[in-house]
Formats: sequence, structure tokens, C-alpha cells
Amino acid sequence: MSKSSYDIALLPGDGIGPEVVDAAVTILDAAAAAYGFSLSYTSYDAGATLYQSTGVSISAATMEAIGSADAILLGAAGLPSVRKPDGTEIAPQIDIREHYGLFASLRPARLFPGVPTRVQAEHIDMLVIRETTEGLFAGRHDPLEPSDDAVSDRLTITRATSERLFTLAFEQATLRKATQGTPGRVTLLDKANVLRSNAFLRKIFDEIAAKYPDIASDHLYIDAGSMMLVTNPERFDVVVSENVFGDITSEIAAGVVGGLGVAPSGDVSLEHGVFQPCHGSAPDIAGQGNANPVATILSGAMLLDWIADRHDDTTCRTAAAAVRDAVASVLAQGPKTPDLGGTASTSEVTHAVAEALSTSRVRA
Ligand code: ATP
Repeated sequence: MSKSSYDIALLPGDGIGPEVVDAAVTILDAAAAAYGFSLSYTSYDAGATLYQSTGVSISAATMEAIGSADAILLGAAGLPSVRKPDGTEIAPQIDIREHYGLFASLRPARLFPGVPTRVQAEHIDMLVIRETTEGLFAGRHDPLEPSDDAVSDRLTITRATSERLFTLAFEQATLRKATQGTPGRVTLLDKANVLRSNAFLRKIFDEIAAKYPDIASDHLYIDAGSMMLVTNPERFDVVVSENVFGDITSEIAAGVVGGLGVAPSGDVSLEHGVFQPCHGSAPDIAGQGNANPVATILSGAMLLDWIADRHDDTTCRTAAAAVRDAVASVLAQGPKTPDLGGTASTSEVTHAVAEALSTSRVRA
């Protein structure tokens, strides 16, 4: 049921994380004011800076508290200079994924007019869905058998997770077709010709596809599919894959539509959603005031869509579309940050998006 106010948990994190989260909050507030709902925010510490002072990257209390918010907005967590004793980086976003069973990562890749791309394509608008809890990550916590001769990683596909994943993919294709006029097609990328686990994955995909006669479906082997993402990205609508194939696929898709500065994402289960830019904390540009806020602002639009779905709230859905349109007009006309060839600051771009949002509302 729709509400007049929604609670958002903020995890600004490290590096440019707080800068881009501030920008997204400015736009979310502008959207809420224009469309007549309200958002309240609670900010929590998580990441490498917290780890340096406390020895934990996210406290147990924060982990619990964020679960009761309507949605979570994360900036970026981790710094290359801050490492755990085993040499790995701080990544509370992976802990949150595991804690709340966020089994799918949604990564839209849309080419906005005005954004430079190295591929030859006019119209790219796809949604890559990556499974995030099993596949080639399934054995991440398996005991390591000490050996200098051979080490294995386990690839596991379960029916339960695959059915949820593919149902989500077909539901997303249906929603995109209805609300954005996309063609309505789901493509599975796999290695079913070699890996038994992937032959099983494909079988489950076909079972779920049969329940959605209005949505087209097809499969490509991951190698050929990866090439086509670069040579013919226009052919894709919703793309779905197991964990590691999906990880790589989503970065290729982000690359063809202009890079990390414009790539949003959402890690979701049926109950919880964490929205964040695909980029990391970018310590090389932190504090300079010129990080591109677009990826986080678009993640904020995904957050509004998520709330709209869960609460059947058409106002939030309209506001999400308005945020995307405002971003599109700013990317087309400028101002733009240096990663897109411009000279503008984070706040100049943010204010331009807010201005475009309020102008479009007045016109509507
Ligand atoms: P992680 O492993 O945490 O995802 P990463 O190693 O992929 O991080 P990023 O922090 O994402 O690295 O940065 C990669 C490059 O992209 C850096 O040069 C960084 O400055 C640039 N970059 C990332 N995000 C942005 C942004 N929002 N605006 C401008 N440049 C960015």
C-alpha cells in the first residue's frame, strides 16, 4: 500500500561516496517535493574509514537497522589502502548482500544522447541481471585444501535461486515493456554446451520463460554473447546470467554506454533493496568536487521504482521516470563532469538535474 513518507537508510561510505550520495539526496528531495511525497533519511557509517577506527566495516546494530528502512542508498565502500589481514579490501556491500540474501543485482545500461561511446550504436537500453549469491561464488567459504598443485572453486546452481532469478528477469522485462516501451525479451548468457551446471540453468530458464508467453526469450553462449554486447548492443533488452558471467557482462555493458560515471545498480531480494553506483570510492578524485553524480542519481531513480513496485505507488514511479528524463536532458546539453569530457563540478551537474526536474514538473 502506498505511504506518504518512506524511510531511506543512507550508507555514504568512503572516498567520493559521501559526495555522490549528497547529490542523489538533493535530487530525491527535489523529486519528492515536485510529486508530493516525502522521504526521511537516516545516515549510517560503514566502510574502510569505519574499519580503520573500529576494526569492523559495518556494525551489527547498523546491519540490523538498515533492514527496517524502505530502501537503502549506498555511496561506495572500501579504499585500496585499507586492507584486512588476509589482504582483501573492506566490502560491507558484500556482507549486506549475504546478510539479507540479495540474490540479484540489477544493472541498467542505457546510452544517453550526449554521452560519448566507443561503439557504433544509436540506441542502447538494456538491463543486465546478475545472480549474486551462488554460481562461481558458491564455494567462497569452502575450506581451502592446502595444495601447491591444484586449487578448485565450486560452481553451484540451485533450482530455488534460479527460479527466483528468472522470474525476476521476466517480471522486469514485462514492467519495462509496459512502462518504457522496450521490446520485451530476456536473453540468458551461459556455457550450457560445456558446463553441466549451466545446462541445468538453461533448463530452468526455459521452464520460467514458458510462463511468460508475451515476453520473447533466447540464449547465447557467454563468449558469443560478450562479443555481441560490443558489436551489436542494440539487440539486448533484459540480459540474465550466473554470478561471475554476470559480473563481467555488466561491466562490459557499463563500458559501452559511457563508463562508470553513468552506471547505476540495485542489489535486491524480494524484501530488501540496496541501490548504489557501479563505481567504487575513486580515491584518486575524492575531495576534488568533480565526481560524476549521475550513476548515484540514477541509482536513486531505481530506488524510487523499487518503492513504487513494493507499495504499488504510481507517484514514486512517475517521479523515478522524471529523474531519468532530467538526467537525460542534462547529459544531452551539459553541464558535464570531466569523466564525460566536461569541466563542471558535482554540484553544478546536480543543480542542473534539479532544475530540469522542476522545469519538467511545471510543464506537465
Ligand atoms: P571498486 O573495486 O571499489 O569497484 P575500482 O577499482 O573499480 O573500485 P573506482 O573507484 O570505481 O575503481 O574507480 C575507477 C576509475 O574510475 C578511477 O579512475 C575513478 O576516478 C573513475 N571513477 C569512478 N567513479 C567515478 C565518478 N563517479 N566520476 C568520475 N570518475 C569516476
